[in-house]
Amino acid sequence: MTPEEFRQAGHELIDWIADYRSNLEQRPVRAQVAPAQIKNSLPSEAPTSPRSAQQMLYDLEDKIVPGITQVQHPMHFGWFPSNASLASTLGDIASSGLGTLGISWESCPALTEVEEVVCDWLRQLTGLSENWEGCIQDTASTSCLTALLLARERASEFSQNKGGLQSHPHAMVIYTTAEAHSSVIKSALLAGFGKDNLRLIEMDPLSRAMRAQNLKEQVANDIRAGLKPAAVVASVGSTGVTAFDPVAEIAEIATRHGIWLHVDAAMAGSAMLLPECRHLWEGVEAADSISWNPHKWMGTILDCSLFYVRDVQHLVRVMSTNPSYLRSTVDAEVRQYRDWGIPLGRRFRALKLWYHLGIDGIDSIRERLRRDLDNSRWFAQQVEAAKDWRVLAPVDLQTVCIRHEPPGVTGEALDQHTLAWVNAINQSGEAFMSPSILDGRWMLRVSIGVEATTRAHIERLWQLIRQRAQGPIS
Ligand SMILES: *Cc1c(COP(=O)(O)O)cnc(C)c1O
Repeated sequence: MTPEEFRQAGHELIDWIADYRSNLEQRPVRAQVAPAQIKNSLPSEAPTSPRSAQQMLYDLEDKIVPGITQVQHPMHFGWFPSNASLASTLGDIASSGLGTLGISWESCPALTEVEEVVCDWLRQLTGLSENWEGCIQDTASTSCLTALLLARERASEFSQNKGGLQSHPHAMVIYTTAEAHSSVIKSALLAGFGKDNLRLIEMDPLSRAMRAQNLKEQVANDIRAGLKPAAVVASVGSTGVTAFDPVAEIAEIATRHGIWLHVDAAMAGSAMLLPECRHLWEGVEAADSISWNPHKWMGTILDCSLFYVRDVQHLVRVMSTNPSYLRSTVDAEVRQYRDWGIPLGRRFRALKLWYHLGIDGIDSIRERLRRDLDNSRWFAQQVEAAKDWRVLAPVDLQTVCIRHEPPGVTGEALDQHTLAWVNAINQSGEAFMSPSILDGRWMLRVSIGVEATTRAHIERLWQLIRQRAQGPIS
C-alpha cells in the first residue's frame, strides 16, 4: 500500500469509525454470537489474492462488528468502564502511523521523553509527590508482576545474581486479600513465591477492606516461623466490590518490616484525579509501587497502565539488560525504559495520553468522573429505597452491588432468581451487567462510568432491572 492509497482508505476508515461511534446505541450491548460463529465466517486459510480496503471495511462491518460486546455503549455496566475516548484514539492512530520502535532512547528519543513527561503530568494530577517516577506498562497485571519481582529481589538480597529463589534459605511470603484481582495471585505464582506462601488476610465483612490488625498478626507469626515477609499488595478499589484496603495502616506495618508495598489501583486510580477522592488511598506515599489504568475509567484507550516506583535504582538493577548493540554515547544522560519492565520493544503509548489530556483536557475528564460518582450515588439510593432490594456493599466509588430479595426466596432459589433476571437483561442486548458471587451468593455488580452514560441511561437501567426482576414474581 502506498501513502496515497493509505490516505484514501484511511479517510474512509475514519469516517466509518465516526459513524460507528455515533450510532453505537442502536447496537446490542453484548455480542449476540454463538461460540465459533465469527471464526467460521472467516476463510480457514489466508487470502492469496489481494483485497481492496473497501472490501476489508465491508467485512469489518459484516463479520467482525457482530462479535463485539460494545463496552463503549452507554448501557454497558459490566466489569469496569473501559473507555476509549476518541481524543486518545487519535493519539493511538498517530502512534501507529509514526511506526516508531522503542528499544532504547536512541531508537526514538521522543518516545522516551514524551512518556517521561506524561507520566509526570499524571503524577501531579493524582496528587503524588515528586518522589515517584513512572512509566507506561501494557496492563496492571504486568505492573503487579514487575512489582512482585522487585519485592522478591529486595527480600532475597538479589538472589537472581546467585542461586535464585532455589537457593534462598527462608521462604518468602506475599500478603493480600481474597478481594484482590486474580492478577495478584497470578503474579505471586509466576514470580515463584508459591501458593503455600500466599496469605489471604481477613477482611472487614462489610467493607471488604483488609484488616490491618490481621496483617500485623500474620506477619509476626510468619517471622516467628522463620519465614521472610516479602510483599503486601493492597487493593485500592478491589475487583469485586471496589473495596479500599487501609493503605496508611498497611504501609506502617510494611515499613516496619521492610516489606514491599504494591498498591493496585487499576480501576480506582482514575478517581485520584479528583482531590475529594484521595482520602481513599491515604498513606500511599509510603508505598513502594503503584499501578493504575488510565485505560479504564479515565478513558485513555487500552493499553495504558501507569506504573510508579520510588526507588528507580532498584527497579533498574532488577530489570536492566545492556547488550552491546543497544549501547550509545548518551546512555548516562537518558532514560532507558527497557530497564523498567519486562518487554524490550515498546509502542509510543505516551501519545494517547498526550492527545487525551491535550484535546479533552483534565477539566472535562474530572467533570465526567464527578458525573459518574453522582449517578452511582443516585442509583444506590433508588435501590436502597425500593422494597425487597438491597445494596450489598458500601458505594465509595462507581460500583453498586445489588440484589433483589423477594420475601421467602433464599439460598439456591435466590441464586436462580438473580441469574435469571440478569441473564434475561444481558441476552436482550438492552444493557449488560456482570453477575458475581459475594459471600457465596450471586449478586449483581453495576459498574457505572462509560463515557456516554448519562443519568437518563441510569434511569432506564433501573426501570429495566425492576421490570425483569419483579415481573414474574409480583
Ligand atoms: C482491572 C484490574 C486489574 C487488571 O488490569 P489489567 O490491566 O487488565 O491487567 C487489576 N487489578 C484491579 C483492581 C483491576 O480493577
